[in-house]
Amino acid sequence: MASDVRLSNLSKSYGETVAVKDFSLHVRAGEFFSLVGPSGCGKTTILRMIAGFETPDEGTIQFGDREMTEVPANERNSGMVFQNYALFPHMTVGENTAFGLRARHLPKDEIAAKTQAALAMVQLAGLENRAVQELSGGQQQRVALARALVIRPNVLLLDEPLSNLDAKLRTETRAQLRHLVHESGITTVYVTHDQEEALALSDRLAVLRDGTIQQIGTPVDVYLTPVNGFVARFMGHTNLLEGRIIESDRRSCTVAIEGTSRTIIGPPIPYHSGDAVSVVLRPESLQIEDSLTSPSRHGNRWETAIIATEFRGAFTAYTIRLFETNLFVYRITRGNQLLQGDITVSIPPDQVVILPNE
Ligand code: ATP
Repeated sequence: MASDVRLSNLSKSYGETVAVKDFSLHVRAGEFFSLVGPSGCGKTTILRMIAGFETPDEGTIQFGDREMTEVPANERNSGMVFQNYALFPHMTVGENTAFGLRARHLPKDEIAAKTQAALAMVQLAGLENRAVQELSGGQQQRVALARALVIRPNVLLLDEPLSNLDAKLRTETRAQLRHLVHESGITTVYVTHDQEEALALSDRLAVLRDGTIQQIGTPVDVYLTPVNGFVARFMGHTNLLEGRIIESDRRSCTVAIEGTSRTIIGPPIPYHSGDAVSVVLRPESLQIEDSLTSPSRHGNRWETAIIATEFRGAFTAYTIRLFETNLFVYRITRGNQLLQGDITVSIPPDQVVILPNE
């Protein structure tokens, strides 16, 4: 049975280093939840406390109704998959997978049946007798997953399990992982510093900074409506400008961009004239107008020029000079036309994100 996970006011320090600070989180039963944030923000420490490999200095951990804070790791019925798989090199694929079942002293027949089912689930049926060193990185990663899933854990804990795979295998394994975890219905906590992975996999995610939560939400919420500049920057390449509100009413607000004589119109926000704000212009929200697009009627339309071009396959990243700074604009590749020189760029006011200054 999947259980929910409740972390209440967890703190953990290593000597002078505060790794996690008064951290509270409720992961719902059956949910795929990701902890994301830059290196050193405390993600792994939180996961290790949930697993029971670290004891919190303060706070409590609950799985369902059961208090787990003091329960040893091997009695928590959680499955953990590490970045380096941590498979036993001298054991076969089958022996690695069956490890948790043997430790529970289940009957031989049951161990064999469950092991086969777990390997089938990760599409490795028939490879029971292979040595693990004879597998590819992606296959080893799936053995580690089968080993964690075979015990039917209450909670599955994944610590950057895809980071050793090459880009193509990573994307493929990511899709398999999402499918597997949703099919099994196991509550999953996933740690990554890769925001794209978190967006692609999670039901909800939390963005962490220095051991504390900046924002919790669905991938769409966190990406489109970040609560501050840190989250906006972390969740994607973005253009961030500093400004001051000059007018704000129920329909829109106008921001004067610092160091320039220009303004940007954004959606209505609960700030007042004179308030300092940050303005987020997502590269994919900035539109380059061409002969096929009709000129936009709102005020956010500027003449500018392309100063650098990076072709990235599915899209092209243009660098333009605007607001006395360099901004990125992404444009989906259509045909083989790369733009150059003078352009007109615009952004609909409802796609401008205005945030309180940090
Ligand atoms: P990464 O993405 O680099 O793995 P993280 O977000 O998982 O980082 P943690 O590994 O949880 O971060 O580390 C949080 C902080 O605690 C860091 O400053 C780290 O140096 C420190 N830390 C973690 N484990 C230990 C330890 N065993 N001893 C001392 N300091 C530690």
